[in-house]
Amino acid sequence: MEMRPLVGGHVVLDFVNTVAWRLDPARFADDLTTADALVTWLRRTGLLRTDPAPVSPARAAATVKRARKLRDDLYAVLSASIDGQEPPSDAAEAVHHAIVQALRRARLTGVVPLQWEFTPADVSELPVLLALEVWRFLESVDRTRLRQCADEGCGWVFLDSSRNGSRRWCSSADCGNRSRARRHYERNRPRR
Ligand SMILES: [Zn+2]
Repeated sequence: MEMRPLVGGHVVLDFVNTVAWRLDPARFADDLTTADALVTWLRRTGLLRTDPAPVSPARAAATVKRARKLRDDLYAVLSASIDGQEPPSDAAEAVHHAIVQALRRARLTGVVPLQWEFTPADVSELPVLLALEVWRFLESVDRTRLRQCADEGCGWVFLDSSRNGSRRWCSSADCGNRSRARRHYERNRPRR
C-alpha cells in the first residue's frame, strides 16, 4: 500500500482521502483494498494500537466493503456540505445508521462528561471503530473550515486551518504546484 501524505487535518478526513484521484476515473486509486491494508492504515493513524484478531477471508472482504461504503457515503455527505448543498439522503441515512449501530457497541467509561471507548475484538469490528470516529468528527466539525481540493481530479477533503481561510489545495507541494506549473505553461505558450 502506498503511503500517501495525511493532509486532511483530521483522521476522519484522512480516511475519506484513502481514495486518491476520486474525481478522475483514469487515475482513481483506492488504498483500502484488503483488510490488511485497512489495519495498516488504522495503525499508521494511531486509531488502532494493536492488531485485531483475523477473521475468515469472506468476513474480511465484507469488512473492507463496509468500511469503504462508510467512507464513500461520508464523502458524498461532506462534499455536498462543502458545496452548500443538502447531502444526498441515502448517503446521509447510511452514515446515520452506521453511527447509531456503532454507538450501541461503545463502552461508557464516564457519564459527566460523556466518555466512551471501543476496542475492536477482531478485524470485522473495524468499521465500528471508524463509525465512532466519524461521529466524534461530525459532532464538532467547523463546517466553514471544510474544503475540497481545488484540483479537478483530486477530490481530497481537508480542514483549512489557515488564519484567513484561504487554503485551496490538499497540498501546496502537490496539487498546488501542478496548478502553478500549468498556469505558468499556459501564460508562456506562444500565441498564434
Ligand atoms: Zn489535491
